[in-house]
Amino acid sequence: MELEKFKELHARFFGKELPQEVLDSEEYEAYIDAIHEDEGCYNWATAEKLNAQGFAYESYCCLMLADKVFQSIDEEGETKYNDPEVIINKWDEGLYGIPVHDGSASMVVINYCPWCGARLAK
Ligand SMILES: [Zn+2]
Repeated sequence: MELEKFKELHARFFGKELPQEVLDSEEYEAYIDAIHEDEGCYNWATAEKLNAQGFAYESYCCLMLADKVFQSIDEEGETKYNDPEVIINKWDEGLYGIPVHDGSASMVVINYCPWCGARLAK
């Protein structure tokens, strides 16, 4: 999908309660597909969301990692533990890890971004 077209659909659909006939429409389906399948559209929409939340995503290797780190912290910026939705954590020292959801706070430290392959550790 053209990014301009995607932006137009995003303005109409994002963050709104949409009636069922809109959710069933081909335009909405194309919009959702673009988020999942078109990297340009995904990156733009994710940057918009993180910007709106005041999250400094520029320091991350890619928006996928930035978004997953964003999802791992609460409104106060504290790491969420034992949230099954959280798939990656970041520590202040610049370390990244995959949480082990076994009730403890254990993590598997990773050195490369799972999405773009960039080296994470300094
Ligand atoms: Zn990355």
